[in-house]
This record gives sequence, C-alpha cells and structure tokens, in this order.
Amino acid sequence: MKTILVTGGTGYIGSHTVVQLLNAGINVVILDNLCNSNKAVIQRIENLTNKSPYFVEGDIRDRTTLRHLFEQYSCDAVIHFAGLKAVGESEENPLKYFDNNVSGSVTLFEEMLRVNVNTLIFSSSATVYGNPGVVCYSESTPLQPINVYGQTKLMVEDILRSLKKSKPDFQIALLRYFNPVGAHESGQMGEDPFGTPNNLMPFISQVAIGTRPQLMVYGNNYPTPDGTGLRDYIHVEDLAAGHLAALNHLGPDNSFITVNLGTGRPYSVLEVIKSFEKASGKTIPYEVVGPRSGDLAEYYADPSFAKTVLGWEAKLGIDRMCADSWRWQKNNPKGYL
Ligand code: NAD
Ligand code: UDP
Repeated sequence: MKTILVTGGTGYIGSHTVVQLLNAGINVVILDNLCNSNKAVIQRIENLTNKSPYFVEGDIRDRTTLRHLFEQYSCDAVIHFAGLKAVGESEENPLKYFDNNVSGSVTLFEEMLRVNVNTLIFSSSATVYGNPGVVCYSESTPLQPINVYGQTKLMVEDILRSLKKSKPDFQIALLRYFNPVGAHESGQMGEDPFGTPNNLMPFISQVAIGTRPQLMVYGNNYPTPDGTGLRDYIHVEDLAAGHLAALNHLGPDNSFITVNLGTGRPYSVLEVIKSFEKASGKTIPYEVVGPRSGDLAEYYADPSFAKTVLGWEAKLGIDRMCADSWRWQKNNPKGYL
C-alpha cells in the first residue's frame, strides 16, 4: 500500500484530496502548521472515510521536522499544497510569501532528495499566466504573473523544471488550478477562511448565512455579457480527483507534466449569485462597487490537455458547486469551530 505525504493537508483543497486518497486505499501523512486551517478537519476526514491520516503539526521550512517525518514514515510521493495564497497580502508582505512558498518548497524538495522520495505533485495556479492578452489559457500560454503570489508559484515551477533536468528520475506534475469552490457533498468539509474572505464563493456563503450584510460586486463595467468578471470555477471534488489522476499517470515514461485543472466554462459574478440564491433559497443582497485592483475581466482554462493526458475532466457544474458550498455553510455556520 502506498503512503503519500500531503503538505497543507488540513487546508481546503488538501482535506478533500486526503479523503479521496484514503478512500482509494492510500495511506496519508499530513504535514501542516495550521496557519490557515483547523485541526478539527481531521475528525471530519475520519468520519467520512473510517480511516485515520497520520498528522504532523509542523512547518515545511523546518528541516528537522521534515527529517523526523521522513524517518518515521516511508513515503512514496508528496502532494505539496502547503502555501500562502492571499494575493493582497503577498503584495503587502512579499518576503513572507517568498519565504513560505519558495524557501519552504526548496527545503521540502531538498529533504525529499535526501531520502529518495522523487514523485511530486505541486499546487500551482492560473495566476502564473498573469495578464497574457488572451482569455482562454492553455498550458503553453506565456507565463507573466502580475502579483507576488503568482511570482512565488512560477518560481517554484521554474525550480522544479530545473530540478527535473538535474535529476531525470524525478516524476513531477505541476497542476495549475483555476477557481476552486464547493465542498464535500456530505456538508462535513468545506472552505473555512480565517477572517474576511477574499474570494467570491465563501463571501456569498457568509452573506447567505447572515454573517455579513451584503456582497460587494467588484465592477459591472467589464467587457463581459453582464459587465461583471468571468471566472472558471471548479468544484473542489473534481480538483481533488485531478490529483489522483495525476498520481496514476506519473511513471518512468510520463515523468513531467504541466496541466490546467479547470472546467473551460466561465461564470460571471451575477451568474454565481443567481445560482447560489437558487441553491440556498436566500436572497443575496449586493452592491456594485469599483473594480478590485489587479482583477482581470475574464479568463478560463483550456482543459483539453488534462482530458487527453490524464483522462480527467471536471464533472460538476455551477449549481452543484453552490449547493455543496451552501450545505457546508448551513451545517457549519462558524466553520470548524
Ligand atoms: P489553504 O490555506 O486552505 O491550505 C493550505 C494549507 O497549508 C493550510 O492548511 C496551511 O495551514 C498550510 N500551510 C501554509 N504554509 C505552511 C507551511 N509553511 N508549513 C506547513 N503548512 C503550511 O489553501 P487551499 O485553498 O487549500 O490551497 C492549497 C494550495 O493550492 C496552495 O498552495 C494554494 O496556493 C494553491 N491554490 C489555491 C487556489 C485557491 O483559490 N484556493 C487556487 C490556485 C492554487
Ligand atoms: N468578486 C466580487 N466580490 C468579492 C470577491 C470577488 O465581486 O467579494 C469577484 C472578483 O472581482 C472576480 C470574481 O468575483 O471577478 C472571482 O474572485 P475571486 O477572488 O473568488 O477569484 P480570483 O479573482 O482570484 O480569480
């Protein structure tokens, strides 16, 4: 039976992926410093799978923790989710992001090398494309991130491209996520942001549950059909499944892939509000304000390569994303607390 180290495994995408790994009969070791997640998620993972992941509370930048972990558990592969992801914070505090996301990743890769763990899946992001002048991004669209967060993702991708050249035995998947939303269909696991949510879906959920009075819609003057921003939202369960597909695909003959994980079908802010209102039976009060700095009008994935190379495609649409987000929010008005 395989054992996989999942860094950031108590986080939003990590926890959903851990459930799918355990259900596939894979042992999981989670390493997370809980800077943006709650340990209570582990009990939920156990409820959903009747299995227990091993949990190490620690930091990917801490070499001693990594050495102990790799001594204690014999890992076959690493799925590397651990990272900071708030674009605004990354602009205000770039060193924190370079340290956590880039230095942390380098330390992790060095310790993997030391123990000959050479299979890795890395959480990259559509933000690596920046503002390339097209709206449909394929994997060969030029990479020119426009914020520090995106830079950190591109730097780690570049590091892994160099590592692969120097160590041909490494098997690496770079997965570029579009906009992950939704929750486990049980309503027991979902996104639980600390503080005010930056992203659209958790903000709408908190308005629906009454934690926040209204949504601010950032701009309705974009060159899109209803004037609001268009994004490629992808259900977190589809995204998690993409990791298992990448893991199955990697091998000596398929040892480096870069793949977009999106649906290819973008939705506007107003369309998401409408779908959420339908799912929740609640009205979402909103006010249109000026555009958010750095936001693009529209972008979405060309997901065709993922289908060809991994046999993976997103199955769940916007109504299911909203229904599952709402079930999670309704059952857990204060998240994991
Ligand atoms: P999340 O914040 O819910 O999960 C990340 C986890 O990593 C958290 O549990 C946090 O405590 C942990 N962590 C952070 N720094 C750490 C460190 N130095 N050592 C140990 N643990 C650490 O975020 P998420 O939405 O699940 O995102 C997972 C990954 O996917 C991140 O790398 C993120 O950049 C990337 N990503 C996310 C999105 C998105 O919109 N959610 C989109 C594209 C890419
Ligand atoms: N958005 C919004 N109000 C919010 C949060 C987001 O109108 O409170 C809009 C944002 O301008 C973008 C879309 O919703 O058009 C998705 O934003 P999110 O932050 O979720 O993802 P990202 O901008 O990172 O793609």
